[in-house]
Amino acid sequence: MTDASSQLIAWVPELIYQPSGFEFGRALISDAAGNIVRIESVDQLSSERRINLPRRALLPGMVNAHSHAFQRVLRGRTEYRTTNQRDSFWTWRELMYSAATRLTPEDIYDAARMAFLEMALGGITAVGEFHYLHHAPDGSPYDDPNLLAKEVIRAAGDVGLRIALLRVAYARSGFQTEANPRQARFIETNAELYIRNLEALAASVRSPTVREGNARHSSPEEAVVALPDGRASDTAWIGIAPHSVRAVPLDYLKEVIGYAAANDLKIHMHVAEQPAEVSACVEEYGRTPIALLQTEGLLNQQFTAVHAIHVAPKAVAAFAETGAIVCACPTTERNLGDGVIPADEYLKHGVPICLGTDSHAQIDLLEDARELEYHLRLQKLERAVLSIRSPTVRVGSTRQPSVDKTAVALPDGQAADTAQYLFDCATVNGARSIGAPNGTLAPGKPADFFTVDLNDPAIAGASGDDLLPAIVFSASRAAIREVVIAGKPMVSEGRHLLQEEVVERFNELQKKLWT
Ligand SMILES: [Zn+2]
Repeated sequence: MTDASSQLIAWVPELIYQPSGFEFGRALISDAAGNIVRIESVDQLSSERRINLPRRALLPGMVNAHSHAFQRVLRGRTEYRTTNQRDSFWTWRELMYSAATRLTPEDIYDAARMAFLEMALGGITAVGEFHYLHHAPDGSPYDDPNLLAKEVIRAAGDVGLRIALLRVAYARSGFQTEANPRQARFIETNAELYIRNLEALAASVRSPTVREGNARHSSPEEAVVALPDGRASDTAWIGIAPHSVRAVPLDYLKEVIGYAAANDLKIHMHVAEQPAEVSACVEEYGRTPIALLQTEGLLNQQFTAVHAIHVAPKAVAAFAETGAIVCACPTTERNLGDGVIPADEYLKHGVPICLGTDSHAQIDLLEDARELEYHLRLQKLERAVLSIRSPTVRVGSTRQPSVDKTAVALPDGQAADTAQYLFDCATVNGARSIGAPNGTLAPGKPADFFTVDLNDPAIAGASGDDLLPAIVFSASRAAIREVVIAGKPMVSEGRHLLQEEVVERFNELQKKLWT
């Protein structure tokens, strides 16, 4: 058939998510390139190939804005006391380094594929990978300085995830701190070297190998192909990630951020995760990390500050003034004892928050979303702290839910208030932070979405205004049944296409590393 509509797929769930509320009796139409053509009434369907999804609600794929994929190998191996004093982020970091120094390029591929597969099963369709393993364990560069970054990109491509490879700049252990040999794999001592390697990676991502068939078993040479048809431009791309003010001195930082600005790249940086990092910065520069970034003109709309927990009110205002985004990683932050992110202050000032699974102690972005709110409830002894209907929220700073007559939602959509805010963090804000094309369901956007089973025991009985809160606050991964990326089903009935192979390889890796 030559009729263009015969190339189209009509995905027909019971409910489709829209910002104004779930809609029923509608179909999402995707084209052969994997983009959304329209969302229309089921009555208007004609010759599209129809895929019925009974008892399913369809939602936009989530965006995980902060990941260190290799840290998946640490899960379950750091939950004990290592000192006679207090265990902390810093003692955990030593355990993490001991794993980081032992991984081969193939191990990094296997670990990343495991992390990305778990993300896909959880409805995540794009990831921002904060990648800092560059060299061989002894610190000597590989022949290809981007060998490990390409392994991570290849892993994302094989699993089907879109990836922003946020290549890390790491110059030193810290201000007046002895070099730590366990950081040898991370270090590129000057900005010129960093930028040269970044440009080489960018060039390889821009010129993908176009291959026939599927990408399930790519080779390292074909690393940059993120999806089977070789459309690398919106499936794998790069950004810059100066590790932290501790690891990158100011001159170096200015150079790489200047490069990002000139080349329209996203900038991610760990900021104010730990009090010790803040005090070291004050000692070196006489300013807190955020004051330093602001006064040096380094904050902008391309900038995402990861963690941003230990901040003064002035810092919140600095983000608001410059348009910077904050990335919260609440499950990791509670696991590491980092602290509670003042999300309510950021919301009041109109600073968008996105979410990351970071250390992968757990990979469940809906859990990160609910923890953003729950940690504040415990701290403040209040409920519904993050409310987009709150009169204290700056007008125009965040989306006010509008009422749509076709929506199933209750007339005022009130029940979805906090859940709507949290779901935006997991979708649109994440996409903006890492420059992903997805995060919303609209014509021209990629057909990246997941479905939940409306009969799943965790959300059964929800159908209208209560469905989004039920998903955000109560659903586990078991409720997520289909995950489609670029119009291609990667997860069906809760199973990923490559699940057995990926898990088996990862089991072998863990055995090799730890026994
Ligand atoms: Zn991190």
